[in-house]
Amino acid sequence: MSEILPARSMPLEIIPDDVTLAQFMLDRSHPYRPTRPAGVPWLIEESTGRAVALEEIRERVFGLANALSFKYGIGENDVVSLFSPNHMDYVVAVWAVHRLGGALTLSNPAFMADELQHQLIETKVKLVIAHSLSLEVAHTAAALSGISSDRVVILDDAEKPGTLTVPSLIREGLSQKANFVERRLAPGEGKTKIAFFCFSSGTTGKPKAVVIQHYAPIANILQLALHFRIHEDYAPWDQRRNRPGDVHLACLPFFHVYGLIFSVHYYIFAAMSLVVVPKFTFKGMLEGIVRYKITHLALVPPQIVLLCKSPETKKYDLSSVRVAGFGAAPVSAELTNQLIAVIPQAVTGQGFGMTELATLTLMFPLEARHGIPGSAGRLMPGCVAKVVKSDGTLAKRGEPGEFVIKSPSVALGYFNNPTATAETFVDGWVRSGDEVIVDEEDNFFIVDRLKELIKVRGFQVAPAELEAHLLAHPSVADACVVGLPDEYSGEVPLAFVVRQPKVASANPEDLRAEIKKYVADTKVYYKHLVGGVEFVDEIPKTPSGKLLRRVLKTRAKEILAER
Ligand code: AMP
Repeated sequence: MSEILPARSMPLEIIPDDVTLAQFMLDRSHPYRPTRPAGVPWLIEESTGRAVALEEIRERVFGLANALSFKYGIGENDVVSLFSPNHMDYVVAVWAVHRLGGALTLSNPAFMADELQHQLIETKVKLVIAHSLSLEVAHTAAALSGISSDRVVILDDAEKPGTLTVPSLIREGLSQKANFVERRLAPGEGKTKIAFFCFSSGTTGKPKAVVIQHYAPIANILQLALHFRIHEDYAPWDQRRNRPGDVHLACLPFFHVYGLIFSVHYYIFAAMSLVVVPKFTFKGMLEGIVRYKITHLALVPPQIVLLCKSPETKKYDLSSVRVAGFGAAPVSAELTNQLIAVIPQAVTGQGFGMTELATLTLMFPLEARHGIPGSAGRLMPGCVAKVVKSDGTLAKRGEPGEFVIKSPSVALGYFNNPTATAETFVDGWVRSGDEVIVDEEDNFFIVDRLKELIKVRGFQVAPAELEAHLLAHPSVADACVVGLPDEYSGEVPLAFVVRQPKVASANPEDLRAEIKKYVADTKVYYKHLVGGVEFVDEIPKTPSGKLLRRVLKTRAKEILAER
């Protein structure tokens, strides 16, 4: 089989390469961009219902950009860290930094100090914007990274002595004349000018900073717009699934590309309103759907499990939901069918994305009302795919192989890491490290993950990061971490550990608990060894010393069956 093309191609000249993401979102019209009906806000604060329209966002972006410029000297190519849960001013901070010609490093606000420190140092951050709930960790990580404490500011309006807040900076910025000149891009410059650093471990090794240029999310927004236009153009307005003025519950984290590009940027572009949810709780989600008559959900598998299994679901009227898309990790046909039974009126279906592809390349076809349960979708316009077998030849339809993708939204590579970049970004193609099968109708099915990555509740866990940490423990001689299948989380990390000879006679239960605590003390919750610690005599390796993860993945499945 040759390369697979989407049902409809995309004219590349429709993707502007001379604008920043901020300009594209705030200042530009586009032939694919629907008109926003009067009175339809961009953002709605979940807790208060406060609605914010374009004019206010533009003003706040200007105020913050101005203050960041005259107070902190932020400008061309400076990197600002955003360390916060979803918040109304999250995008204000993003677009303000873009207006100045800077880039953002987006980090999980639940990170511990050493996890954040790694990202601050890797991407040479100059200023940290942290939510007050994450402030202590932000200060510790900043100090460890050589960033002075006066360069840590609070995103929300919590008053903390000695630390400025974004709302106060906006007020100050608005009270003064412009100190900066908006960064404009020359034709073609959007293809190299950096907008974001988002971390991913790729096919192997520790988390690396993926360099996302302005052009990539803009391309992806337009690919999504075209995909949905193609699928909807034939329908009368009142039967369309995506309509201007629709309301999306934005509870996916904005620091991850799935939340950032799909949930925030695409849905705002599509003239919808975003209800900004700072912290996901299941009850909050159900209440939010009812209170705001949510039409669009973007879900990760654990949320689907809750919707399908919790007795709470039945107590709420979910009839407003018209579209529920999901992805980030596998969702079986069985689970999809259960979701369809919960929201039968809605179109449901999967998408597939990767940080390195910023973001989506597969999306469910809208004409099949419930997608194809179990399928991750079809290629979006502008993408090309190959399915490569382990012997390097191309797979036929129905045959498994590695999913390799070309898309205008592909990121530039891993920051300062040419070796890892060369392994994953090959001649314009991205190796996903995922095994797929494509059927005769061009539906893609993700059948296995060939790469090391573990996905817990949709979040990346890099085994190499946990293994390096475990090897630094005095009782550990060798270690290998794999994913143990789990109904709610998808997978949970399980560590196979070879003990140092001196502790071989120690009580195994005590040592297990000690190792689990050692990981829990320095790593964010979803990296904890919830799958357990199994003591083994040796870690299977190839003669050249490479870990034979497959063997231990198989062993993990046996352990699960034995438990
Ligand atoms: P991330 O860069 O964090 O978005 O992770 C990308 C990886 O998530 C992919 O390479 C897949 O392994 C996994 N993934 C994303 N979407 C899906 C999906 N619909 N089905 C199965 N795996 C998925």
